[in-house]
Amino acid sequence: MISVRDAQNHVLSRVAAPVAPELLPLTRGLGRVLAQDLRAPFDVPPADNSAVDGYAVTSADIPPAGTRELVVVADLPAGTVHETALRPGQAIRIMTGAPIPAGADTVIALEQVTREGARVRIPPLAKGANVRLRGEDVSAGTVVIEAGAVLRPQELGLIASLGFPEILVRRRPRVAILSTGDEVAEPGEPRQAGQIYDSNRFMLRAAVEQCGGEVTDLGIAPDDRDRLRARVLDATRSADVVITSGGVSVGDYDLVKEVLGQLGTIDFWQVAMQPGRPLAAGRIGDAHFFGLPGNPVASMLTFALFVRPVLWKLAGRRHLATRGFHATAREAMPKKRGRREFKRGVLSYGDGGWEVRTTGPQGSGIVSSMVAGNCLIVIEEDHGDVQPGDTVWVEPFADL
Ligand code: AMP
Ligand code: MG
Repeated sequence: MISVRDAQNHVLSRVAAPVAPELLPLTRGLGRVLAQDLRAPFDVPPADNSAVDGYAVTSADIPPAGTRELVVVADLPAGTVHETALRPGQAIRIMTGAPIPAGADTVIALEQVTREGARVRIPPLAKGANVRLRGEDVSAGTVVIEAGAVLRPQELGLIASLGFPEILVRRRPRVAILSTGDEVAEPGEPRQAGQIYDSNRFMLRAAVEQCGGEVTDLGIAPDDRDRLRARVLDATRSADVVITSGGVSVGDYDLVKEVLGQLGTIDFWQVAMQPGRPLAAGRIGDAHFFGLPGNPVASMLTFALFVRPVLWKLAGRRHLATRGFHATAREAMPKKRGRREFKRGVLSYGDGGWEVRTTGPQGSGIVSSMVAGNCLIVIEEDHGDVQPGDTVWVEPFADL
């Protein structure tokens, strides 16, 4: 029996390097992983500019009390530059974002002045007010986004503000997914007596896409040694990662581990966890291989624990940890010591803190428990039964 932590470390240690980079238009960058540090080629903003619509003035002209009248010598919309320097006694009408004219250092907001013809009357104001300084957002030469960052809308906005139309990101890891089992039927096809519809392949495909992979669908393989071997071998020629589900427990027809033992280096583990105990992991040629359990909950969970961090590392992501936090258990949860247990939970905020209860029956075939839930409740190896009021660790499911 191997611990969850050791199994995770083991699979991650097999990823020596990320996949190759590719150049993409910025418009296709969402969710991708930056492949190199991004440095600012210039200051942002590139010049001191106005934070408000108003009047640019010289601070020497600002009255300490009362008001003072200045002559308006120009009107400066955003995007235009005033060529001549402001002289004492003058003001320039300026719009938000317009560069501060030479000689000016302060902007007085429109609603704080009274304008009459070519004259404007200004009140007291602190020197430098309403001026956004050159480089206050980003200064030239600094790394603004580090390699390994996942690009969110705000990163794309920052990259665009630096003038880059393209970005170097890691290509998506290619993942081939195969279901196994004579009893597994394709949705849309008639279901024979004794058959169940394939749930895992669809769930795993979505999970792979959610964490940035590109899927090749290998369909369903029957419980037949030769056909299984041929499909898997074929998949490993083009995929970075091959995932199967089913066929890894100890039943007579559990061929995956046998076939894989012949094709590559495969570790077959009993992982000290519930659900999801049996798991095969290893390499076939250049591909990473994962034989996940057949029960849908176990399949999804082992994907999240062992495959997702590998996909993230292959994609060059810097942060591989899953986000989680503490919550108060609102019900008793039976728990065996010596293994890590994962329950599907419903997390909510109440009474000034996060609270969690389970979704009900926790059998590893109950797909609906993952639909009803919004988090995993993770109960550590050395923990026994959970009592109401105990603190437990929760990891929210990823949102789409
Ligand atoms: P196995 O490890 O192949 O014995 O599978 C364990 C359980 O998971 C059995 O009840 C299978 O019928 C079920 N199962 C296997 N593959 C799938 C699948 N793709 N979708 C839904 N259930 C599955
Ligand atoms: Mg099977």
